[in-house]
Amino acid sequence: MVITVEDLEMICPICKGNGQEKRQPCSACAGKGTVLTTQGQTLLHVLKKYIEE
Ligand SMILES: [Zn+2]
Repeated sequence: MVITVEDLEMICPICKGNGQEKRQPCSACAGKGTVLTTQGQTLLHVLKKYIEE
């Protein structure tokens, strides 16, 4: 199985990827410009289990 970055994150629909919302860091993506997809959230959930050990 091949996972690409596009599978894990997508352009933030709130700020359209510029990371800002009314001159403030976008609240939906914390200024990153991208948000996790459902697949990305699943991966993060799994990885956190190992990071926190
Ligand atoms: Zn955003």
